[in-house]
Amino acid sequence: MSDRCDSCGDGGPDLATVQRVYVVFEGREAVGERLADEFETWCAICRLTYPHQLVEST
Ligand SMILES: [Zn+2]
Repeated sequence: MSDRCDSCGDGGPDLATVQRVYVVFEGREAVGERLADEFETWCAICRLTYPHQLVEST
């Protein structure tokens, strides 16, 4: 896990590891969602703004 947000580059105390969620379109219609292959580190603001799934660190 990095100490900067991989999405906007901000540093911050509230970073979390996430997998980005891509919306899959067929034409203009959203038909499903696809999970990104890689983990990213995101700040709280990006986690509010973009669809994602939190990765629980065990
Ligand atoms: Zn961010």
